[in-house]
Amino acid sequence: MTDALTVSVFKCTNCGRPYGLDFGRAGCPVCGGIVDLSQPLVFDPNRIDPHARGLWRYRHTFPLPADAEPVTLGEGGTPLVPIEVGGRGVNFKLEFAEPSGSFKDRGMALMFTALRAIGVSEAVEDSSGNAGAAFAAYAARAGVRARVFVPEAAAGPKRAQIAAYGAQIVAVPGPRSKAAEAALAAVQSGAHYASHVYNPIGLAGNATAAYEIWEQLGRAPEAVLLPVGHGTLFIGLHRGFLALRAAGLIPRLPRLIGVQALACAPLWAVRRYGREGLAMVSEADTLAEGIRVVRPMRGDAVLAAVAESGGDLLVVDEPAIRAGHNALARLGLYVEMTSAVVWEALAELSGDIVVILTGSGLKTPAA
Ligand SMILES: [Zn+2]
Repeated sequence: MTDALTVSVFKCTNCGRPYGLDFGRAGCPVCGGIVDLSQPLVFDPNRIDPHARGLWRYRHTFPLPADAEPVTLGEGGTPLVPIEVGGRGVNFKLEFAEPSGSFKDRGMALMFTALRAIGVSEAVEDSSGNAGAAFAAYAARAGVRARVFVPEAAAGPKRAQIAAYGAQIVAVPGPRSKAAEAALAAVQSGAHYASHVYNPIGLAGNATAAYEIWEQLGRAPEAVLLPVGHGTLFIGLHRGFLALRAAGLIPRLPRLIGVQALACAPLWAVRRYGREGLAMVSEADTLAEGIRVVRPMRGDAVLAAVAESGGDLLVVDEPAIRAGHNALARLGLYVEMTSAVVWEALAELSGDIVVILTGSGLKTPAA
């Protein structure tokens, strides 16, 4: 093991305890707090690797040992495509063009690079969605045995994708929360939890989307619009733009604007009504199943990013999601329903906007 593996790259946001890359729990084992990156990300334009592809161009920003061999499927480097919408130019960032079909690959590439560097041979996750698919893809690439806890009722293309990568699927009866509990029980008995929510390394991967937008536009946009569930991409973008600002490369942060489905909009509710707003949050069925997160684990960080960037949180209803899905497809952008929440929100905003299209329409169950 190199020294870099033992340094504390993470820390508990509650008690401040340091953790290394071998952190594989739901939260701080001592106090239960959320574990985050221990330092702000540092971006140095002179250290962009011109010979590397995709997000590995920004390797100098990653909390990884210098000698760790990347576990990569060619993630990052997604297109930024300008398209005229309603008489104005909008830049769409095509995250659905990632290797497993969603932005989650950015975080999982770093996660599995770390896991392989520290010699983890088996890991668990509890997502039946894009995170589960990315987890299974990178586990296959890394040669790590993968176990994914999913609700028994979860079906459709994403579950099929997880199974095809060779991950063991553990179907848990009951609602989604039961699958999470089963994963936690496995973690309690020693399994390594490679969670896209609890393990903060993915935030450094997601931040690369900000660096790419800056490189592709030659500047930061006025605003970035994206769906938000747990908010790991939202927070990653915030950290990435903070690093660009700290490096003197952009004068101010873009406004970060997150969209939730009205059926399940806890972050929007707190932003509008304060903590009392949580009382009115439902976990109703929604077409945007990828952001149906009633208790976002890093919600405070999302709200802080909204406030610091002068951003906002918006909601859209189910007809707007379906209409957005159709409208985007007619522009040649075939995204999953979750990604389509941005469409109606886009109409409410003006100015220079980058819209992040998070997941592929090929993952949408047939109607
Ligand atoms: Zn703690």
